[in-house]
Amino acid sequence: MPSEPLTHDPVVEISQVEELADDLVVLPNRGVELVPNIGVIGGDHSVLVVETGLGPRNAEKVLAFASEYAKGRRLYLTTTHFHPEHAFGAQAFAGEATYLVNGAQAADLADKGPGYLEMFRGLGAQVARQLNGVEPATPDLVYDDTYHLDLGGRVVQLRATGRAHSKGDQVVSVPDADVLFTGDLVETGRFSIFPWFPPYDVDVSGLRWIEVLRRLIDTGPRVVVPGHGDVSGPRLLADVRDYLELLRDETWVRRDSAMSEETIIAEVEALMTERHPEWAGQEWIGKGIGCFCTEHA
Ligand SMILES: [Zn+2]
Repeated sequence: MPSEPLTHDPVVEISQVEELADDLVVLPNRGVELVPNIGVIGGDHSVLVVETGLGPRNAEKVLAFASEYAKGRRLYLTTTHFHPEHAFGAQAFAGEATYLVNGAQAADLADKGPGYLEMFRGLGAQVARQLNGVEPATPDLVYDDTYHLDLGGRVVQLRATGRAHSKGDQVVSVPDADVLFTGDLVETGRFSIFPWFPPYDVDVSGLRWIEVLRRLIDTGPRVVVPGHGDVSGPRLLADVRDYLELLRDETWVRRDSAMSEETIIAEVEALMTERHPEWAGQEWIGKGIGCFCTEHA
């Protein structure tokens, strides 16, 4: 989510479908802000869609693609977390797909969905238009920690990671193809998104996020599909972990010297943009620093 009004329409385009493995494709976000990478994973009798796009009109396009792709196979939908461009189109799948998520995400959707809808409507006329008519979607199936979804000849693992980028993050892995969908736990070519909006939203945890990334690195996926940005390999997980660890260390060393948060942000922001001059989303560095300041031991 950007902190300034968007000047473009956050529209899901179906034009460049990327095949990652047999019967497994991604609708890439093409670097467009507020458009997520969307996965479509097929098995013998069922197809799982990962992410909806922002609002019902984007989701209808995704559903139309998935229905054609599925050729009569049963449809499932899941979302990596409750943020609007990932989950606020789920209503378009009602009656067409079984929507399943982890319990913590279902709670986020119910508790924080309405507030985020309001916040995102303030991000410009085009975003507000895409959010027109959004209704809170209720998942059909809610699991606790892990769910093995049998698509027929292919079992997909849905795993709640515990609080990190949001309270209800989950990852989706396809073991037979070694593909991992991370949602916003990982982005390519941009600074990690810290939805740190005290006092309204302080669920993001930099420390837990680092732990989650360490565990994901241990699973050793061949292909990593980030929430936004290019599909990549396992190095991407390590790059994001390294960034978060550096952000933590540079914040804490200044916190130890009793520097003001304002000065810490100015100094560490400069350091990080120097380290990653090509990364987008510089506005998230300061929010990450704010989060790590409160997590300082
Ligand atoms: Zn997010």
